[in-house]
Amino acid sequence: MIDATRAANVIEAFFVRVRPCLGYLHVAFFVYFMALLFLPLATDEAVLGDTPLTNFALFSNYIMWGLWFPLVLLSVIFTGRSWCGLMCPMGAASEWASKSGLKRSIPWWLRSEWTPHVSFLIITVLGQTIGVREHREGMAIVFGGTLACAIIFGFLYGNAEAHYGKRAWCRHTCPIGLLLGLFSRMGIVQFTPKRKVVNLARYTERGVCPTMININRKDESRHCIECFKCVYPDKPTAGLKLEFRKPGVEIEKIRQHNPNIMEVMFFFIGIGAALGGFLWLFLEQYQTLRLAVGEWALGLGWTWIGEAAPGWLVSSHPQRGEVYNWLDFFCISGYMIAWALGTCVVLTLTTAASSFLAGEAKADGTFYSRFLELGYQYAPVCLVSLVIGLGTKLFPPFDVFGENAPDIAKVALFSVSFVWSIYLGWRILGEQGLPPAERPLPLIPGVIGSVLAGVSWWVTIFGPIAIE
Ligand code: SF4
Ligand code: SF4
Repeated sequence: MIDATRAANVIEAFFVRVRPCLGYLHVAFFVYFMALLFLPLATDEAVLGDTPLTNFALFSNYIMWGLWFPLVLLSVIFTGRSWCGLMCPMGAASEWASKSGLKRSIPWWLRSEWTPHVSFLIITVLGQTIGVREHREGMAIVFGGTLACAIIFGFLYGNAEAHYGKRAWCRHTCPIGLLLGLFSRMGIVQFTPKRKVVNLARYTERGVCPTMININRKDESRHCIECFKCVYPDKPTAGLKLEFRKPGVEIEKIRQHNPNIMEVMFFFIGIGAALGGFLWLFLEQYQTLRLAVGEWALGLGWTWIGEAAPGWLVSSHPQRGEVYNWLDFFCISGYMIAWALGTCVVLTLTTAASSFLAGEAKADGTFYSRFLELGYQYAPVCLVSLVIGLGTKLFPPFDVFGENAPDIAKVALFSVSFVWSIYLGWRILGEQGLPPAERPLPLIPGVIGSVLAGVSWWVTIFGPIAIE
C-alpha cells in the first residue's frame, strides 16, 4: 500500500529541488503558448479533409480546446492548481512584470470578491460571441488580451515593501484562476501550515506568497497556486508542507475553510453560463427568439441592429460565411446571461429549501450559514458542466472505441459528478449535526437541483432535440 505521507514528502522534495529551474519551464511554455496563439494567424485556411496533423490552426485549436482547457480543469482534482504555479505562462509573465514594475498597492476594486466573477462572465460571453472555440482570430484576441492584462496588472501592482513578485492578476482577476481555485477545494492535494496561527489576517501583500496568502494562517486551497515558494523541508516548523487528503474533504468541512457566498453564486451561475454558451448553438428555440427580437427591434426603427458588429466583439469572418451583427451579439450574450440567472434562481431555491428543511430537523447554524455550506454541494456538477460545455473537443476522439463512446464518456463523467454532489450534500448535512436518519429529506432539494442540471445537459450529450 502507498504511504501517502511518504509520497507527499518525495514529491515535495523533488519540486523544492527543481524550483530554481521552473523559470526555464515557464519560458518554454510562454514560447509554446505564443506559437499556439499567433502562428495559426499566418497559416492557410483549413480546407475539407484537413486534420490537426495537416493544418497548424486545427492543431492549435485542438490543443487548446480538446486537451488544455478540459484537462487543466480536471487536473485540479489530482494536482490542485499545479498548472498555475508550475506551468502557466500568463501567471509567470505577470509575476515577472511585477518584480520590475511600479509595485503600487492593490486597489480595493481589484481586491473585491466580485472582480474575478465579472471577469469570468465577460470572457465567457465574449468567447461565445467572438467564436473563441471555432476561429483562430477569436482565440488570439481572447487569450492574447488575457495575457496582456496579466502583464499590465503585474506591472502596475504588487507591494513596494515586498521582495518577491506578486500576482495581482492571478489572485484577483484571472477567470481561469477563479475556476481552478474553486474546484481545487475538491482536490486531493493541499499545502498546510506546519505551525498554524489563527488570529492573523488571511491576506497579506508582504511575504513570500505571490497570491498574497498569509501562509501561517492558510486554511483554504483556492488561492494557492502550488509554486512551492513557501516550502522549506529542512525547517520543521516554518512554512507549509504538501499533503494528500480525501477528495472533497475541504467541501465536506467547508465551515472550517472560509466559505464564501460569491463562490456559491459562481457554482449556480457557472452551470447556467456553460449551458447557455452551448445551447444557443443547438436549440431551435434560440433562432425563434432571435427572429422575434430582430422583428421587435426593427419595429422600433432600430435598423442599426442588423449592421455588422466590430470584429473584436463578434465573429466576423466573411471568408468562412460567418458575420455576426449587433442582433447576434445581444441575443447570444442575453441568452447566456438568462440561462446563468435562471439556474442561479433554481439552485438558490433548492439550496434554500435544503437549508430550511435541515433547520427543521434541528441542524446547527443559521439559515444563511447552512445555505452557504450546502451551496458547495454543486461543485462537482458545476465542474463537469464546464468540462462538457466548454471543452467539447475532448470527447470526439473517443469514437475510436466505438460510435457511441463519446456520449458514453460524457454520461459517465456527469454521472460521477452527480453522485459526488449528492454525497457531498449528505456529508455537509452530517457536519451540520444531522444524524443519517434525518438527512434524506433536506437532501432531496439538492438531488432535484443536480437532476435539473443533468436534464439540461441532455441536449449537449445526445444532440439536438426538437422541443415544441
Ligand atoms: S490564475 Fe490565471 S494567469 Fe494566473 S497562473 Fe492561473 S491560469 Fe495562469
Ligand atoms: S501558499 Fe505557498 S505554495 Fe501556495 S501559492 Fe503561496 S507561496 Fe505558493
